[in-house]
Amino acid sequence: METTVQDTDALAISGGDPVREETLAYGGQTIEDDDIHAVAETLRADLLTTGPKVDAFEEAFADFVGTKEAVAVSNGTAALHAAMHAIDIGPGDEVIVPTITFAATANSVTFEGGTPVFADVDPDTLLLAPESVEEKVSPETKAIVGVDYMGQPCRYDALRDIADAHDLVLLDDACHATGGSYKGRPVGSLADLNTFSLHPVKNLTTGEGGMITTDDAGWAKKMRRFRNHGITSTHHERAEEGSWYYEIPEAGYNYRLTDFQCALGMSQLQKLPGWVERRREVAARYDEAFRSMESIEPVERRDDAKCAYHLYVIRLALARLKADRKTLFEALQAEGIGVNVHYIPVHLQPHYRENLGTEPGLCPNAEAAYERILTLPVFPRMTESDVEDVIRAVRKVVSTYRR
Ligand SMILES: *Cc1c(COP(=O)(O)O)cnc(C)c1O
Repeated sequence: METTVQDTDALAISGGDPVREETLAYGGQTIEDDDIHAVAETLRADLLTTGPKVDAFEEAFADFVGTKEAVAVSNGTAALHAAMHAIDIGPGDEVIVPTITFAATANSVTFEGGTPVFADVDPDTLLLAPESVEEKVSPETKAIVGVDYMGQPCRYDALRDIADAHDLVLLDDACHATGGSYKGRPVGSLADLNTFSLHPVKNLTTGEGGMITTDDAGWAKKMRRFRNHGITSTHHERAEEGSWYYEIPEAGYNYRLTDFQCALGMSQLQKLPGWVERRREVAARYDEAFRSMESIEPVERRDDAKCAYHLYVIRLALARLKADRKTLFEALQAEGIGVNVHYIPVHLQPHYRENLGTEPGLCPNAEAAYERILTLPVFPRMTESDVEDVIRAVRKVVSTYRR
């Protein structure tokens, strides 16, 4: 029935039949029987948290990205917070972040009393622009955070040069890019500290969860303490010593990930490469379809990076359309396509405008891009007909609003 929908049919928003009756979400997890089995088995074990699955998942994740250490925490925001703590961010310190990101990238700097400094993005890829980073470096700068927007790794060679020239720590907020690579090197090994989210909408999930990868054993040790109240040893280690004594050299948080979540993570990690390939197939089909639609400009991808496609983002060529992004967003939602917008530039959020005085005009490329971006559904469970529905709905909507 769906295949009978024509470009010329009335839009659902104007009372026509929608391309889909049930809305297709923009993302979603894949949970299979082996995932459920892994969790159930761990629920029957003695230790529900701070047990062997945590160590095993950390080891498997470190192996996957090719680092010496991986530290599991309760979510991606906690991962960023622990990373900021590891490198001693404090009052007076500046950390350069792209303004096109999820707010947690910037917020985590403030958790430790530091100041996020918003840099602009490259207009074609919407990735942190090294040229803008160079302009924002000051004597107070301590670190740079790249964000692999959409799942495409930043230009890490250029960012590394800047970090080295100014003695800065380089971080990768890799929450979109699990399973991607840059010049053949896996995401997770590209910066000094690399943070991941294991939220259901990301490339693999533990329900809620996060991970930090690094080659620095000192930072890893500090982050393991930080996730456990600042206590220098786990209660199992103390039980082995037969001792009640512990020390808290500095206050930490409870950012632990449970054993059954880590069991889920290990099961998911094995399947991640296949899921990334499926995301890339969906993206390739979109690229092909949009090549003939002049009002659609997908965010560009570079040849030197392998994008892991947490998101697929298009830019509307507004000069070729009679409607703005809000109208197209609503029209696509009405067709049953769960479009989204990633992201409102973080420097325009009231919190930062009030506290840091960041105003429109600070990051012109990001602000211009924000007016015309739309995120389309991409996730491994999408069927061929789901993909065709998205393409058909986009074609129907843009042909109706074509100038
Ligand atoms: C999802 C995400 C986070 C936060 O992760 P949570 O697990 O939701 O806390 C941080 N940064 C980016 C870029 C993200 O996409």
